[in-house]
Amino acid sequence: MELITILNHCHRHRGFVYEHARFGPDKKSIEVDVRPRQGAATVCSGCGKAAPGYDHLPERRFEFIPLWGFLVFLLYCRRRVNCRGCGVVAEELPWSDGKHPSTKAHMLFLARWARRLSWQETAEAFHTSWDRVCEAVEYVVGWGLEHRTLEPIHAIGVDEIQYAKGHKYLTLVYQIDQEITRLLWVGRERTIESFQGFFTVIGEQLASQIEFVCSDMWQPYLEVIREKCSQALHILDRFHIVAKMNKALDEVRAAETRKMARDGHEPLLKKSRWCVLKRKENLTFKQQLRLRDLLRYNLQTVRAYLLKEDFQQFWKYNSPHWAGMFLDFWCRQTMRSRIEPMKKIARTLRAHHALLLNYFKAKKQFSSGVVEGLNNKAKVTMRKSYGFRTFRILELALYHSLGKLPEPELTHEFF
Ligand SMILES: [Zn+2]
Repeated sequence: MELITILNHCHRHRGFVYEHARFGPDKKSIEVDVRPRQGAATVCSGCGKAAPGYDHLPERRFEFIPLWGFLVFLLYCRRRVNCRGCGVVAEELPWSDGKHPSTKAHMLFLARWARRLSWQETAEAFHTSWDRVCEAVEYVVGWGLEHRTLEPIHAIGVDEIQYAKGHKYLTLVYQIDQEITRLLWVGRERTIESFQGFFTVIGEQLASQIEFVCSDMWQPYLEVIREKCSQALHILDRFHIVAKMNKALDEVRAAETRKMARDGHEPLLKKSRWCVLKRKENLTFKQQLRLRDLLRYNLQTVRAYLLKEDFQQFWKYNSPHWAGMFLDFWCRQTMRSRIEPMKKIARTLRAHHALLLNYFKAKKQFSSGVVEGLNNKAKVTMRKSYGFRTFRILELALYHSLGKLPEPELTHEFF
């Protein structure tokens, strides 16, 4: 079986024929000549209609999917047409988008691998450069964003992610419907303006159909949601509240440890960090003993720990009313604790009383985890980054791995 036969089978285009396959001068690549099929019409790349030929451009190499360790190139002299509507323009090529030196098939091939491997690994595995892989992802993501269907969107989650040193953040908006979870949008910074950008993209009509919004307590997000999605039930993300509480507890513990050392006390809190931060059921046996020991002392850390543990009950309620009663009770108790970081939490929770109870009104269907799970995937994508430090590249990589975007179709599945 000849290479031409295989190509005709898997990458056939009406109007063109493969003519001759041979090794390139370096013997490391294969070159295949392509020529127009006799009698087939030339197609204008401007309007997609048939148009009379005008002249030829010089021969170009279009990189194709590598085969058995050989790079493969299609060689073709692109024609220009004299179109009635568009004037003299280049003809339409079914295998190329006209801008890139790679064929569509090759770009799709690289982009799919770039989802599994890092971009650098992809480049190395298929004897190409990081830039070429980046171009491929850019092409596939661009196509996907243009062809994706946004509606209907019932539920969204918004979260921020830190992407570089010096407090550089991205705002990520996810769709978190039962049927589909995907990344919808990436914005620079986490300001009111950046989050508003998402609503500009989806338009007022789609925004007005959103029923649930999950977010953390970041003020700019709260404001934008109030303004753009006032009809939606706004739920505060459980994960973030738990995280905030752990942070407060850790502050208390660190400060108390320092104070005890300063005052020359026995270092009671040594190695206690994970005993109090981890969930009880995740403690090792040793940590359990350590915790039991610790709880005998009247320390600020212990009292803060008990408040934190007590708060777990909040999530177990089903009725918003009783959850609300519990929340009030917990906050009153905490405000009397004289532990400043915990009091700060209580004040924040009080300020967001109504939003917190929305979690129960939504019947807990958007509990913890959905947004957080997606955000963890986003972090993994960033970690796989070798040089994703610019916003543009990071944006591409995130859409590529989390956007569930449609892909340009090929007549054959190459991989
Ligand atoms: Zn035209």
